[in-house]
Parts: sequence; C-alpha cells; structure tokens
Amino acid sequence: MSSIFTKIINREIPADIVYEQENIIVIKDIAPQAKIHLLIIPKKEIPTINDLEETDRDLIAEMFFVAKKVAKDLWVDEGYKLKFNVWEKWWQEVFHIHLHLLSDIK
Ligand code: AMP
Repeated sequence: MSSIFTKIINREIPADIVYEQENIIVIKDIAPQAKIHLLIIPKKEIPTINDLEETDRDLIAEMFFVAKKVAKDLWVDEGYKLKFNVWEKWWQEVFHIHLHLLSDIK
C-alpha cells in the first residue's frame, strides 16, 4: 500500500504543495508546529532513514539543497531547523522519509 505522501505526490489526495521538482516535493505540514512548517519529501518511497541505500546518496543530498532553496524563497534562511524523526520511538508517524523544515522567524 502506498504512503499518504505517495498519494499526495500522485494527486490522489490534496495537499498544499509549495515546490516540486523531478525527484522531490515540498508540502505544508497539515499540523504545523511553527509558523513555517514544511515537509521535504522524496518521490521515492523510502520508509525510514534506516532503510537508506548507497544509491540514495544523491537523493538525500538533493533534499538538503531543496531545503536551502525553499528557506531562501520563503525568507526564513536566517533561522530554521531541519529534522528527521526515525521510528516510532522518536515519533515517526509517516513511514515515507521526509525532512521537516521549521521556522518561527517570520
Ligand atoms: P513524522 O512524525 O516525522 O512522521 O511527521 C509526519 C508529519 O506529517 C506530521 O508532522 C504530520 O502533521 C504530517 N502530515 C500527516 N499527514 C499529512 C498530510 N496529509 N498533509 C500534510 N502533512 C501531513
């Protein structure tokens, strides 16, 4: 079964899409924990950071470059936090990796 984020990527369910490129989509978090709370999501469905493979190196790097770009585009590049939650004991809810970008500086 595909993840909720794959359903968003495939436009099967709606989301507030902020940015999209070939391998990555950026959406607004539905339950924001800061004034700006985005999720940077690879289109490839990787369940957790523990499941990364060597071939995912470029994709993971690309996620951080997208984070840098959207932070600048939204004028929050003077202060923000990036985080991955990994597994349920550290509150991972959606098992399709995603990088949280949070900022309160706006
Ligand atoms: P995590 O706990 O790291 O797995 O984070 C999952 C995040 O996805 C949470 O912050 C949720 O609020 C967010 N989320 C879940 N469903 C959706 C959705 N349909 N659209 C946008 N964000 C979502």
